[in-house]
Amino acid sequence: MLPLERRKRIKKLILERKNLRISDLSKEFGVSEMTIHRDVKALEEEGVLTKTFGGISLVETDVNEQQKNHCTYCSRAINEKLAYRLILTNNNIEVTCCAHCGLLRQQQLGNQVIQAICSDFLRQTTISAPLAWYVTDTTLHMGCCHPQILTFEWREHAEKFVKGFGGKIYSYEDITEVLLKKMSGTFQCKNH
Ligand SMILES: [Zn+2]
Ligand SMILES: [Zn+2]
Repeated sequence: MLPLERRKRIKKLILERKNLRISDLSKEFGVSEMTIHRDVKALEEEGVLTKTFGGISLVETDVNEQQKNHCTYCSRAINEKLAYRLILTNNNIEVTCCAHCGLLRQQQLGNQVIQAICSDFLRQTTISAPLAWYVTDTTLHMGCCHPQILTFEWREHAEKFVKGFGGKIYSYEDITEVLLKKMSGTFQCKNH
């Protein structure tokens, strides 16, 4: 069975049963627990399920549709292309409209956040936020929050983007501080 097919089936099972054990899945599909762990990781990144001790649980969507499709920080409608997700210690997932709100919300929640996920602006691949590159001050405006922050998986792509649309590239370590300074109006461009 192809991994994609197996993941689809696991997804179906978890929706039906809500809780599953890794060892049972391994037996059911006739693959190693290691393989199941890899499948689970992929589904976890999709926000479908969450890992528990020795097993997995369905991520309960107890929030109503309204909340689900709106940024938890600014209430703006979610544009999947820009969305930034926060996975919390209580297994809840918060979706924010863009990296701007995501980073601010993350700052607010502190160590309640176990994982942050955003997507590559060009390829729409999922990236773990600490590994992403953040572009500010570009001339391309997406109509979300200001100051605007776009996320890229590869620095090389961010550089090419900046060549075309202008802007500056920051790492995860620097971007929150840059954003906070920009918002408080004390940010000064190094070239000035
Ligand atoms: Zn927002
Ligand atoms: Zn936004």
